[in-house]
This record gives sequence, structure tokens and C-alpha cells, in this order.
Amino acid sequence: MLPPIANRFVAGESPATALERVRRLNERGIAGIVNLLGEHYDDRESVRADAAEYRALVRDIAASDLEACISVKPSQLGLDLGEVLFRETVTNVVDAAAAEDVFVWIDMEDHTTTDATLDAFEELAREHEGGERSAGSRSSSDHGSDAGVGVCVQANLKRTREDVERLADVPGKVRFVKGAYDEPADIAYRDGDRIDREYESLLEYAFERYDGGVAVGSHDPAMIEHAIDCHERYGTDFEIQMLMGVREDAQDDLAAEYPVSQYVPYGNRWKSYFYRRLTERTGNVRFALRAVLDR
Ligand code: FAD
Repeated sequence: MLPPIANRFVAGESPATALERVRRLNERGIAGIVNLLGEHYDDRESVRADAAEYRALVRDIAASDLEACISVKPSQLGLDLGEVLFRETVTNVVDAAAAEDVFVWIDMEDHTTTDATLDAFEELAREHEGGERSAGSRSSSDHGSDAGVGVCVQANLKRTREDVERLADVPGKVRFVKGAYDEPADIAYRDGDRIDREYESLLEYAFERYDGGVAVGSHDPAMIEHAIDCHERYGTDFEIQMLMGVREDAQDDLAAEYPVSQYVPYGNRWKSYFYRRLTERTGNVRFALRAVLDR
């Protein structure tokens, strides 16, 4: 069972707990991005099991009428076992989601996965372009609950500027994040201020050139303010995405004016995700210590 200390960042262990979390978010005007925790599988059984759970999840989302989509990790869908398996599995999940009118985000993992992830995204985005456009889901005002596919790009990688230019010609949505992986200095910016400047500049490019579907995956008030400013200048649709348990009050405030989605992880493989959230920020470590001391 999920210990109370992890409850802040993880919805629970079952899909039902994640969907219940989304139901409560929807009441607050916030959409849910549901993620089954799991990564770096080195056996086909785990890949098949998670793909099957995602297929069941999109059926449950469609049946429940919730404002929700899903987010998947390439190494959860077989990338560590080869690009062929990954392509087959991610296509299978995206097709199942499209049949239920549910949007799929593809998370971005470390730099060794960038090419395979973007190539798979591009193919799937082109394939699902017709349905997506006819459903009108390039506008993010619907919180991304219609069919379609999106991918995440990381501002800390030096290659991302070129990737973002390439993606301008690809349908589908793009989520911009600073980057969660510790990457080597020859391929990545490692200074926080440099990453912030890059993030702002990439957003500027996307808001100016993309004809829809910009997602701002950040808790940083300065980045969100910049995105809002870009939105006001270029008129491009966007949505703000934050993680469960992080700046929940800000999510409520922003949702009063803009589309906001919350990333809702669930599942029994919560430990590595939980520890990543804790080590990201001293405030989170203080929260964990308080939770332990208060027990
Ligand atoms: P940071 O640079 O961590 O913080 C900047 C400022 O934001 C802080 O100074 C503070 O003012 C505010 N802030 C941040 N956290 C808190 C907090 N806990 N409480 C109060 N204020 C806070 N990374 C990937 O590499 N691949 C992915 O696919 C991916 N998907 C993501 C999806 C979503 C929806 C989100 C929100 C993030 C995702 N990330 C992903 C993680 C991302 O790359 C960053 O590691 C993470 O979001 C931290 O960067 P930040 O922009 O939020 O702000």
C-alpha cells in the first residue's frame, strides 16, 4: 500500500485511485494527465502488462467522461529492449486511445532516447492528424481530452532548439519542460539561469510559429508569466501543466483564467518517482521530514 508520505505526489496504486483524483481535479476546473508509474523495463512481460493497463485506462477514461488524457514513458513501452518493440507498443497504445478519443502524451527521458522518441512521435502525429484536426483538439482549451498525440522537449538539451524547429512542421502538441535528467555538459546546459533563458526563448519560438498545442510544463512563476505574455502577443493556444502535489494553490488560481492540467502518477512502482520529487527541492525534503516526524 502507498504510505501516507507519498500521497502528496502519487494518487494511489490502482487506476481507480488515479481516476478518483482526476474527478476531484475536474471539480476544480483542472484536467488530469494520468501516468502509470514504470520505466526502464528489461523484460517484455512488463512492457506488455503496462500497455494493456493503458488500453484499459483509456477505455475507463472514455466511459467516465472525465477531462483526462494519459502520459507514457518510452522505456516503459519497450525502448530499452529496442526501437522496434517501442514503436509497436506505443502505436498500439496511441491507436487504442484514439479509438476512445483520448489524448496521449509521450514523456521525454534522458538524451539517449530523444531521437527514437521524436521519430515515433512524428510518425504517430502525422498518422493521427486527420482525426485530431476534425476533433478540433489542436486547441488546448479543451484540456487535451480529445484524440491526438503530444511529445515533451527539454530546454536543458542543446539540441532542443533544432528539434523545436523541426516540430513546427509536425501536427500534435508539444510540452516544454526544463529537463529532469542529469545530462553531460557537452550536450546540455547545466546552469539554471542558462536553462531558464533557453526555456523562455524556446517558448517564444513556439508561440510565434506553432499553430496550436503549446504546453508549459513548469512550476516556475517566471516561465508561466513569460508564457502568458507570449500568449497575449501571439494569440497561440496553450495550457499550463504541473505535477500533483506541487504548487496546488497556484494551479487553482491559474485554472480560473487558463487551461491547467495536472500530471497524476499512480501505481505500485512509486518509489523512484517519489524520491525524484523529494530531491528536486529542499522544500520537498522538509515536507517529507515533517511527515515522518509527525507520524
Ligand atoms: P524549477 O526550476 O524546479 O523551479 C523554479 C521555480 O519554480 C522555483 O524557484 C519556485 O519558484 C517554483 N517551484 C518549483 N517547485 C516548487 C515547489 N515544489 N513548491 C513551490 N514552488 C516551486 N521532465 C523531463 O525531463 N521529461 C518529461 O517528460 C517531463 N514531464 C513533465 C511533465 C509535467 C507536467 C511537469 C510539470 C514537469 C515535467 N518534467 C519532465 C520535469 C521538468 O523537466 C522539471 O524537472 C520540473 O518541472 C522542475 O522544473 P520547473 O520548471 O518546474 O521549475
